[in-house]
Amino acid sequence: MPFKKIGLCDELVQGILATGYTAPTEIQAEAIPVAIEGRDMIGCAQTGTGKTAAFVLPILNKIAKIGHTGGKPRVKALIVTPTRELAMQIDNSVKGYGRFVKMKSAAIFGGASMEKQVKALRRGVDVIAATPGRLIDHVGRGTVDLSGVEVLVLDEADRMLDMGFVNDIQKIIERMPKKRQTLLFSATMSKEVKKLTKTIQRSPKMIQI
Ligand code: AMP
Repeated sequence: MPFKKIGLCDELVQGILATGYTAPTEIQAEAIPVAIEGRDMIGCAQTGTGKTAAFVLPILNKIAKIGHTGGKPRVKALIVTPTRELAMQIDNSVKGYGRFVKMKSAAIFGGASMEKQVKALRRGVDVIAATPGRLIDHVGRGTVDLSGVEVLVLDEADRMLDMGFVNDIQKIIERMPKKRQTLLFSATMSKEVKKLTKTIQRSPKMIQI
């Protein structure tokens, strides 16, 4: 099944073709239509399945549909992920698939210059890929505004819980509107992950591959 058939807009289909993909992977074919519908979702999938594009493409599709409203962009989508490598990788995917979509994105992670990140945030971004600790730093300093977030993604949720990020995640969520779409990806569905989904998602559709 081609990407166009799963409901993605032309700018994204072009971006995917330019990346070199010809057809969606299994998780993409199942998750993208559900996410485009606006539903909350749990994606139970390992790394290597193409799960990154499964959440990045619906986010970009939403941003492309909203169109450029003029002025400084607000954070519309937030992707929280356990490591700086993943944050950078996800941001590269956002920029790659979204090369024909008018949007700005940034990777926010620890161990890198705070100043550079503050500058990018001040100019305004539509999409952030962040690690929890550094994101909390920005929230505390008032350098990031999450009150306009429409889509939240928790990537590798099981790993984030194992790393002890549960309180940070709760603090981040407190800064976001209650009315939002929440997509959660996890390689395993542990008791802790299930408990988290109950507190942050609304009747999520479960996709397991
Ligand atoms: P991920 O599971 O998101 O880490 O992706 C694993 C790898 O699959 C990455 O190198 C992606 O670039 C690649 N990939 C993702 N989606 C597709 C696709 N539809 N066709 C071919 N390769 C893909």
